[in-house]
Amino acid sequence: MTESATGAGTGRDVVATDRETSTRGDRLVSVRDLRTYYDERTLLSRSPPVKAVDGVSFDLFEGETLGLVGESGCGKTTLGRTLVGLEDATDGTVEVEGRDVTDGGDAEWQRRVGMVFQDPDESLNDRQTVGQIVREPLEAHGWPRLSVAVEGVPEATVSGSGPVVGGRVAAGGDARADAPSATGDADDGPDVTVSLGRGTHEVSVRERLPLTADEVTVSVDRGERPTVSVQVDKSVAELRRDRAEELLARVGLSEEHVRRYPHQFSGGQRQRVGIARALALEPDFLVLDEPVSALDVSVQARIINLLEEIQADLGLTYLFIAHDLSVVRHIADRVAVMYLGNVVELGATEAVFADPSHPYTLSLLSAIPGSGSPWDGERVTLRGTPPSPRDPPSGCPFATRCPAKIRSDEFDLPEATWRALDELRVVFRTRARSEDSLVEAAKALVGLPVDAEAIDDAVGDLFGDRELPSAARAVVDEAVDLAKGGDDRAAADRLREAFGSRCDAEAPEAYATGDGERESRCLRCEDGYRGVAETVADRER
Ligand code: SF4
Repeated sequence: MTESATGAGTGRDVVATDRETSTRGDRLVSVRDLRTYYDERTLLSRSPPVKAVDGVSFDLFEGETLGLVGESGCGKTTLGRTLVGLEDATDGTVEVEGRDVTDGGDAEWQRRVGMVFQDPDESLNDRQTVGQIVREPLEAHGWPRLSVAVEGVPEATVSGSGPVVGGRVAAGGDARADAPSATGDADDGPDVTVSLGRGTHEVSVRERLPLTADEVTVSVDRGERPTVSVQVDKSVAELRRDRAEELLARVGLSEEHVRRYPHQFSGGQRQRVGIARALALEPDFLVLDEPVSALDVSVQARIINLLEEIQADLGLTYLFIAHDLSVVRHIADRVAVMYLGNVVELGATEAVFADPSHPYTLSLLSAIPGSGSPWDGERVTLRGTPPSPRDPPSGCPFATRCPAKIRSDEFDLPEATWRALDELRVVFRTRARSEDSLVEAAKALVGLPVDAEAIDDAVGDLFGDRELPSAARAVVDEAVDLAKGGDDRAAADRLREAFGSRCDAEAPEAYATGDGERESRCLRCEDGYRGVAETVADRER
């Protein structure tokens, strides 16, 4: 069966990048066309770079949880690590509140973002006590640097020592030190506020600091412009120790755990330590990389609850990376589905579960009993494995496995034959990749024979007794001859030329779907094509 859209340009609009955000918090992070490639070329290999993240764009809004799902190796972790600056972006941008932080060297962004890793065994140094582990980021960032504001006079000078950052303070109702606060974030307000009255002064300390007003000594030298001297009666080491204890209490551990080592804890407790460490510098944004995948199911629920409580208390934004869609459905406000370095579908979690508009999402959901998706058929098993991220397909990245792939109008073939043709093309593409090694190139140069038998076996396995119209058979024979002549890439190209469709030629843009707040990178979102679920149901029958 063949089909075609009603015509180019009749589809729905490509999603605008500046979407209406009134129903969410403010935009915190904007990722645009982000690419992270690993170039591992050596003397013996001419392989192109691994395109782990290959042109990803999305926004994150304050206070939300964005779930990031996809098969292992799809680039989820690399994307998360690039956002926090642990990997270098090859291209594209990451902006935080309009400031470019793509190169990972932005000190304020480093303070505002934290990461929780999948395997607490590997991410915690077994030679450090839990107290040392949680204090490490505090020491690395020189925490604390306490800012002071003076209220009640038009102008004042502040002096201080130890953790107090002194400096001139423009006073008044919104007075603020010109130095960063303990968290480095001006929006958190001053850490210590001194309110001057007639002959008196009052001291208040920002909540969440391990410090009380009684532990701050203030003396005021009044004059035309008062000088306020602030002395914290706790050492930096004490402040850090108290902060570590508070953080451990926050994640459900106790004071006595401070001096223990990671190997003395259960998996769930170790993950709690990882969360405490990630929270040390009062971040706004956490990347949670499969934070419960390595834990027992009963422990998973407790860690998920803890993460939800922390988010509600502190107003954090989460990027929650997972391969388990049930977990993502529970915790995420929106979900982004990733395949071969690309985000192929993005939208509100319930809307995506109820009506997936990308065939890859449909196949993932079909594997979850009771997912609530309209798919009521058998599990959709994808053919083969994802293509190499070194050599992704030229059109839609999912085209080599897609159960809903648009077929060419040139031939009217049964679905099984289309799939056999797709698979033969994958065979030639895979063989062509191995030709990129210098060893294979050398073999070709000295005229070593091509393994013609393997090609005949593949064609026999795929087509067997299958009837092929003569025009189609002629193309297959031509491709086989090219492969036997040593040019597998030309063979794959010949098949694509004859049997390919738009899916093989165009990398789909992000189409607005559903309520317009969702997007899908599938050409079937254009008017005139059958829906994804309907097509897959027909073909899988
Ligand atoms: S564009 Fe084509 S190959 Fe890609 S997901 Fe849509 S139907 Fe499948």
